[in-house]
Formats: sequence, C-alpha cells, structure tokens
Amino acid sequence: MALERTFAIIKPDAVEKNTIGAVLAKTEEAGFKVRGLRFTHLSRAVAEGFYAVHKARPFFGELVEFMTRGPVVVMVLEREDAVAQWRTLMGATDPKKADEGTLRKLFGANVGENATHGSDSLENAKIEIAYFFAASDVAPGV
Ligand code: ATP
Ligand code: MG
Repeated sequence: MALERTFAIIKPDAVEKNTIGAVLAKTEEAGFKVRGLRFTHLSRAVAEGFYAVHKARPFFGELVEFMTRGPVVVMVLEREDAVAQWRTLMGATDPKKADEGTLRKLFGANVGENATHGSDSLENAKIEIAYFFAASDVAPGV
C-alpha cells in the first residue's frame, strides 16, 4: 500500500453545525496527517468548476447552492491508501445508507447535505488539491 494524499472538504452543513473539530478529531484518529488546511467560502464559479463533472446531473443547481451557502474547510490528507481510506471513513454518499461511525452517518443529514467530500481517485485528488492549494500552502512530501 502506497503513501498517498487525497483532497477533502468539510462542507457548509458540517461547518454550520460546529463540527469542524469533531471531523478533524475523527480524521486524525483514523491515521490521516493533515498536510494542507484552509478555511474558505466557495464562489459560484469555483463551486461550478469543482463539480463540472456533475453539470448534466439534475441535482447540479442544488449542489452548487449548497456548497456556496456558507464557508467550508478544504484539506489535504495523507496516509497509506488515503483516497480509499478517506472514502471509507466518510461512508456512503447518502448518510442514511452510511455505516455507523462514519463521518456522513455522524454529521450528515441527507444525500445533498452530507458533511464531507473526498476525491474518488488518486488522479482526481491531484487535480483537486491543485484547484484549491498553492504548492507553498501544502507540506512538502508525496
Ligand atoms: P463527494 O464527491 O462530495 O465526495 P460522492 O463522491 O460520494 O460525494 P458524487 O456522486 O460525486 O458523490 O456526488 C457529489 C455530491 O453531489 C454528493 O456528495 C452530494 O452532495 C451531491 N449529490 C449526489 N447525488 C445527489 C442527489 N441525488 N441529490 C442531491 N445531491 C446529490
Ligand atoms: Mg464524488
């Protein structure tokens, strides 16, 4: 298993519920090292660009509204097999279907408001990290 980095977001719903610290605690307990961290409020253009792959989906407008309604925390997370391990820690997209103890089960409300984002491949992790972080704002490493 290789040391990897993935890209994660603590979404507006989780920030609104004051669960940034709780998400970070679970993240660190699960063995992830935080290698980049930034608090930001996505503009419509940034959110639309980030989710461009979902542009044709019926929920795209709702998704962009949600992701821009309040601030978020964007993160670079590192551990062995980080992409898959972070998706396991997040749980299913729909919090109602997510396993007990997962971030979306604990902190999400529904399929739209599901607390966290995680990259779906190593290739996309690199693209997403570069979309949100200058190289100088990420710890050097893998
Ligand atoms: P993410 O990309 O945020 O980590 P994911 O990979 O589990 O989530 P995707 O299929 O990539 O799920 O969908 C991206 C996001 O779009 C979801 O996290 C969710 O916020 C929203 N979404 C997905 N399906 C729906 C839906 N049916 N209705 C409303 N919103 C949805
Ligand atoms: Mg996705």
